Amino acid sequence: MHISKKSSTFAPKFVFMRDFTLDTYRALLECLQRHGYILIGFADYLKRKKQEGWSDERLVVLRHDVDARPENSLKTAQVEHSLGIKATYYFRAPKGSSNGEGDIIRAIVRLGHEIGYHYEDLSLCNGDIAQAYAHFETYLRYFRQYYAVETICAHGSPRSKYDNRDLWKAYDYRSLGIIGEPYLDTDFSDVLYLTDTGRRWDGYKTAVRDKIPQFQDTWTAKGWTWRTTAQLMEAIEKGSTPAHIMLTTHPQRWTNDMSLWYYEWLSQTVKNLVKRIRLMSE
Ligand SMILES: [Zn+2]
Repeated sequence: MHISKKSSTFAPKFVFMRDFTLDTYRALLECLQRHGYILIGFADYLKRKKQEGWSDERLVVLRHDVDARPENSLKTAQVEHSLGIKATYYFRAPKGSSNGEGDIIRAIVRLGHEIGYHYEDLSLCNGDIAQAYAHFETYLRYFRQYYAVETICAHGSPRSKYDNRDLWKAYDYRSLGIIGEPYLDTDFSDVLYLTDTGRRWDGYKTAVRDKIPQFQDTWTAKGWTWRTTAQLMEAIEKGSTPAHIMLTTHPQRWTNDMSLWYYEWLSQTVKNLVKRIRLMSE
């Protein structure tokens, strides 16, 4: 049999890396830096946008939604710190008292990262908008014990019928000193949105709220969709990624601990299957 020596069309360099490990995460960040991207947090992006010449820069807004396992976020924060990168970590309101999360937040702040509130007040308060706003204020104050929070980001609450962002139809977060919310204050006509939701980079088809539906067709038409981190890195190497990107990750997925890795892989596989069945029955 004749085997062609031509290189395959995707990921010949990175395809052997196990995806969603800290090593792969570091390789992705290094790949972006090698190709001239500056990696910044969301508050930094909003401030930079006000300066002249910012649009000529190659920028990645690095956002993390800390949905679970905050200790994993400290690990990605350390990886970023070692590369001179400052990102934004969005934390959910703590449930219960003895979770030790405060120490982790403090450590992430010490590494120079931004902290924000990953709010889900409207779904936690069953759609009661006044109660949700009071709840929001309480937890904004809570996070401001650790960091002068300037940005907030909605948790998707996929199992809730409430969209947490609807709180801002009745209230204005700017009156609380908040300068931005990624879904509401990013110019997505200029910034490509990538998220690891669904444990893949093209999970927008099954994502409930973590997606930007108004621009996804344009991005897909341009070929800006990749499934694995290896494919994404290959595109960066080829220079086929756009100049401005928002990259969202859930640090609980990214681990070098193999038992945790298999647990995440299995639970996400089951979740994706359930979502697909739901979509088919709709
Ligand atoms: Zn979330």
